[in-house]
Amino acid sequence: MRLIAAALLIIGALAAVGFARREDRIRQQTTLAAIATELAGRPVGVHCPGFLRSLVDTRGEAGRVAFGPDGRPANHTDLAPATCSALRQLDRVDFTCIERGDCGFKEFKAAWAAHTLAHESFHLRGFQDEGIAECYALQNTAFVAERLGVPTRQAQELQAWLYKDGYPNEPEDYRSSNCYAGGPLDLRPQSALFP
Ligand SMILES: [Zn+2]
Repeated sequence: MRLIAAALLIIGALAAVGFARREDRIRQQTTLAAIATELAGRPVGVHCPGFLRSLVDTRGEAGRVAFGPDGRPANHTDLAPATCSALRQLDRVDFTCIERGDCGFKEFKAAWAAHTLAHESFHLRGFQDEGIAECYALQNTAFVAERLGVPTRQAQELQAWLYKDGYPNEPEDYRSSNCYAGGPLDLRPQSALFP
């Protein structure tokens, strides 16, 4: 009898943990969807995989948006488990290393996750072209970082850092010859600051 009671207690505790995790995931998806919705200019969703699905994720992409044969995007993006977990912890990353110039891969990965959410948001806005989505994303990564708790100044530095050190190393179809200060893809041509 005591054994059954103990077993029930353990099952109850596991169910409570599972439920809390699910609640956390849903709360995070809601937060991320609000950010993506602002960048996409229409109501969109963000999916983070659950625990079991994240164990079998083998696609290796940071995020994706499906496009229909008519060239129109789906109404949500699927983010990779690593992207979701980096975004969840973004406010706990110390980005003062950017100014000092001694950031490591950990900080870069975290910053890249913020950029990924911006990138997928511009796909959701209707831009299927990787070069265009990427150029717009690079100009809105600070917005994402700030909304997820990174202080304003560090969010700006983070955005400049990715453009300087991340962008030149990207595959060719992600780089656009129109992505420069005052260029056709400059979202704030009045400002000298780019991205
Ligand atoms: Zn893309």
